[in-house]
Amino acid sequence: MDEKSDLMEKIISLCKRRGFIYPGSEIYGGLAGTYDYGPLGVALKNNIKNSWWKKFVDNREDMYGIDAAILMNAKVWQTTGHVDNFSDPMVDCKECKKRFRPDQLDNKKSCPECGGAFGIQRNFNMMFATQIGAVEDSSATVYLRPETAQGMFVNFKNVVDSLHPKLPFGLAQIGKAFRNEITPRDFIFRMREFEQMEIEYFVNQNDWQKYFDYWKDEILEWMDSLGIDMNSVHELEVEEADRAHYSSRTVDFEFDFPFGRKELYGLAYRTDFDLQSHTGASLNDLSYLDETTGERFVPHVIEPSFGLERSVLALLASAYKEDGVDGEIRQYLAFKPAIAPVICAVSPLLKNKPELQSRAREVYGMLKQEFGRVMYDDNGNIGKRYRRQDEIGTPFCIVVDFDSLENQTVTVRDRDTQKQELIKIDELVNYLKSKLV
Ligand code: ATP
Repeated sequence: MDEKSDLMEKIISLCKRRGFIYPGSEIYGGLAGTYDYGPLGVALKNNIKNSWWKKFVDNREDMYGIDAAILMNAKVWQTTGHVDNFSDPMVDCKECKKRFRPDQLDNKKSCPECGGAFGIQRNFNMMFATQIGAVEDSSATVYLRPETAQGMFVNFKNVVDSLHPKLPFGLAQIGKAFRNEITPRDFIFRMREFEQMEIEYFVNQNDWQKYFDYWKDEILEWMDSLGIDMNSVHELEVEEADRAHYSSRTVDFEFDFPFGRKELYGLAYRTDFDLQSHTGASLNDLSYLDETTGERFVPHVIEPSFGLERSVLALLASAYKEDGVDGEIRQYLAFKPAIAPVICAVSPLLKNKPELQSRAREVYGMLKQEFGRVMYDDNGNIGKRYRRQDEIGTPFCIVVDFDSLENQTVTVRDRDTQKQELIKIDELVNYLKSKLV
């Protein structure tokens, strides 16, 4: 096994063992392309989403959050071209019947599983179709949305009419998207059900380049603040032939994942493609009136698009570290405190001393109320607790010992340096707050 696939195995195994991510429907043998998040995975995911929402929605004056339905009128996807064009090339092996994307095969002539011959290449539409209501006819077909973006375009008029935003402004949304990927793979990198965090930023056509560059910087700044290893991030100017049909310029932000350099996020200039198409098909006027100039026009769109699971994976790969402690290998996740699923764990030095237990419980209660993401841990000896907390990326372990009873101090141990500091109990909240920026 080479070093990189070894790293992937270690991350997957840690995620399962410590309650981050489990295979979907596991007790029934799983369901390809789906994963379930355990308690620590949910906390990590929520911290990423909250950081994104804070930076791109709450901290700005020009951004409006929405939460559109996953099921949308099928005309949305006919209009955008997804019904006709949202497909990947596919080949079936004539022998073992397995399906592959020919563009992902090293040897395009024979099946990588059994060596069998391939049938004719076809296009496979990646949208999941389902029937709505009790009647089974084609008019009842709806699709699970393959991107969150359209929720924003179809609500453009609603937001303009109800909140009267001034250009440039954006709509932002976090939500599930579904793609019937032919070959889901690489853990949570390519899934069939995943979450996107997307922005449609509406601008005057003359300004698109300025805002494209602006959003490039914003994306990089957020990645850095999250703790993604920026040495592993690369910008790729996507060639015209590889761009989506609606895009006039796309930059992919690629990341050196353990299985290779792949797309993490995308930034696309969607022109006025979506608003114009929906205007034509829905016969609703989706233009914008600039009150200062009196000009009415259809805005153009810059779209920063982020995959939540790919963020989780890039963060795990960036944070995973190993070093040697007491002749053993220590595995730990060096998450930034603001992103770590658990900010701190509180322990009594000894388990069988009621006075230590009750003081530790008090300290825990105080921190839990303040920060929420706090764990009480009195399992095993202190060394084992440190290892467990290191593995889940807890930046601080707080130990209540006999000094705590006398001097009102606790020992705070740092995950990365393993150094210990004495902190007064009544200064703990401020101490931890200062680490959360
Ligand atoms: P890829 O080329 O890897 O299939 P894409 O170019 O089709 O990705 P977009 O349509 O630009 O992806 O989707 C926006 C973002 O959504 C991507 O940058 C990625 O972070 C995420 N994403 C797309 N498809 C998946 C998937 N199958 N599983 C997890 N995340 C995904």
